[in-house]
Amino acid sequence: MIPLDAFGSESVAADLLQQVRWRDGVSCPRCHSDRTAVLNHCKA
Ligand SMILES: [Zn+2]
Repeated sequence: MIPLDAFGSESVAADLLQQVRWRDGVSCPRCHSDRTAVLNHCKA
């Protein structure tokens, strides 16, 4: 386990994880938007 304190906050850690996972670019699987940083952006 990596201590969350290493990232400063959970949100930062999550952001870093996203960058690692989708470093080649990411699009929403539902609407193919690149605004995946916005949670539930296409919920409606
Ligand atoms: Zn979407």
